[in-house]
Amino acid sequence: MSFTLHGLAVSGGIAIGRAHLMSHATLEVSHLVIAPRLVDKEIARFEQAIERVRSEFSALKGRMQNASAEFGAFIDLHSMILADPELSETPKQLIRERRCNAEWALAQQMELLVDQFESFEDPYLRERSYDVRQVVERVIKELVGQPGRMAVRTGKGTKEENLIVVAHDLSPADVIAYKEHHFAAFVTDVGGSTSHTAILARSLRIPAVLGLLNARQLVRDKEMLIVDGTRGVLIVNPDERVLEEYRLRKSQIELERSKLRRLKTARSATLDGIDIDLHANIELPGDIAAALDGGAEGVGLFRTEFLFLDRGDMPTEDEQFEAYRKVVKGMAGRPVTIRTFDLGYDKDLHPEKVLGGRLQSNPALGLRAIRLSLSEPKMFQTQLRAILRASKYGKIKLLIPMLSQAHEIDQTLAAIERAKAGLRIERTPFDEAISVGAMIEIPAAALAVGLFLRRLNFLSIGTNDLIQYTLAIDRSDEQVSQLYDPLHPAVLMLLAHTIASAEKVDIPVSICGELAGDPTLTRLLIGMGLRQFSMHPAQILAVKQRIMQSNYAELAPLVRRMLRNEEPGKIREQLDKLNA
Ligand code: PEP
Ligand code: MG
Repeated sequence: MSFTLHGLAVSGGIAIGRAHLMSHATLEVSHLVIAPRLVDKEIARFEQAIERVRSEFSALKGRMQNASAEFGAFIDLHSMILADPELSETPKQLIRERRCNAEWALAQQMELLVDQFESFEDPYLRERSYDVRQVVERVIKELVGQPGRMAVRTGKGTKEENLIVVAHDLSPADVIAYKEHHFAAFVTDVGGSTSHTAILARSLRIPAVLGLLNARQLVRDKEMLIVDGTRGVLIVNPDERVLEEYRLRKSQIELERSKLRRLKTARSATLDGIDIDLHANIELPGDIAAALDGGAEGVGLFRTEFLFLDRGDMPTEDEQFEAYRKVVKGMAGRPVTIRTFDLGYDKDLHPEKVLGGRLQSNPALGLRAIRLSLSEPKMFQTQLRAILRASKYGKIKLLIPMLSQAHEIDQTLAAIERAKAGLRIERTPFDEAISVGAMIEIPAAALAVGLFLRRLNFLSIGTNDLIQYTLAIDRSDEQVSQLYDPLHPAVLMLLAHTIASAEKVDIPVSICGELAGDPTLTRLLIGMGLRQFSMHPAQILAVKQRIMQSNYAELAPLVRRMLRNEEPGKIREQLDKLNA
């Protein structure tokens, strides 16, 4: 039966492929009684599955050696869990004693282990129950013939390029693992359009629809799917006529994309000659290839916190230094803006382990980003030293997330000075004149922007959080996503005020939130006076095309008029006019 589900369009394009369910496989395990003569065979089947997952882990580790240290640590942990006799031996006893099937024996043993982990006082150990489940799921999938999400193989005759991941929820850490894969698209039941999961989806450059509510329940493994990431639509079991229509649209989109590629080396300037800098947002050093491919003139936002995720420990100063140096060298003289870690909120570091067990009741308003850095001076110094050391190899700008108060800025600048002083004593070279800037992503920062302009060298507006905090809408909650409105007059006022204030004192300001990569907002932002954009690399050429078709002198008065309006309907009408 064919049916259609609607969700949030978070990453454009069309994918046609087979459903690849990311499931809690253990929920689907059935209990079978094995004939006594088949017990040994069942135990051998169990051993083979464990062995296959073990070699899958070591193959993955080998492939990722150059990619990122955090995956190595992640795989090590999972290998250790797999090797634990409680998982790899005890189920064999259960199979023999109870004459049950291997999946069932493993699932029973997993429940016991998970209960044990969950009863621990230490939050870090409690959290490890998750890892136990993940490892067991992978073995169970082997047993039932559906390799798991990080499996090297993807099932008989199906290439990853033809698979569409269907999951209830994916964390940013899950999605970053997909950078190693080539899935056609992914869809989830939950998540907002500027959640980090969505941002990563865009950086994978595959169509994605989030917030489909119950797709994971309704879609069956291997069913034919169409994902329309531009309209936020998932079509399950389409008929031949619909398939034909979407194949046509897919090839039209590909044609448009290849036309856009011609703009890669074109000057990014308006018709009346105003240059606009287009930079890329990246999450891992491996993303620089995409940034250069998109024609980025620099990295406007390197979200370094992704180097910290999915591992049980902190990256060392040298590990971080290597990652930053790789980016700077890869960008070959182009500027690279490195943001100090924005951990907390949805990019959870398991702070319990690192931060002595402090848990937060409201992580979006809690110890996140610079607040966490200032409360963990050692961790912050390690990162600052690594960034400063890398500044010897190219043009690095240092960006600080989530600042809101003058004393935080002063404390941050003092911390940077401390890191510099240490390096000077050691005679380690770094860029003495490194620029330091702030993310403007809290309404207080936008309103009191003078505090920032007097103390810092540049600003970068993080509209994802600025909108979240201005409108009190959780950016990762699909239930309120219809209220997440970049065109709310309050948001526009904050943007215009920040841009104009920076312009007055000649301090560079850019936007690095998702808004910067939306070509329907390009003219509005240019009209406000914005001259620097940073976005996921896949959007750069579409935004450049819009810039090249725009005339600042015409836009400026229209945008001024638009900003005097408070009526949402009128604002949208004026935006349409601007884009006409
Ligand atoms: C933002 O808030 O707009 C931003 C760019 O930072 P992040 O999305 O990483 O929170
Ligand atoms: Mg932010």
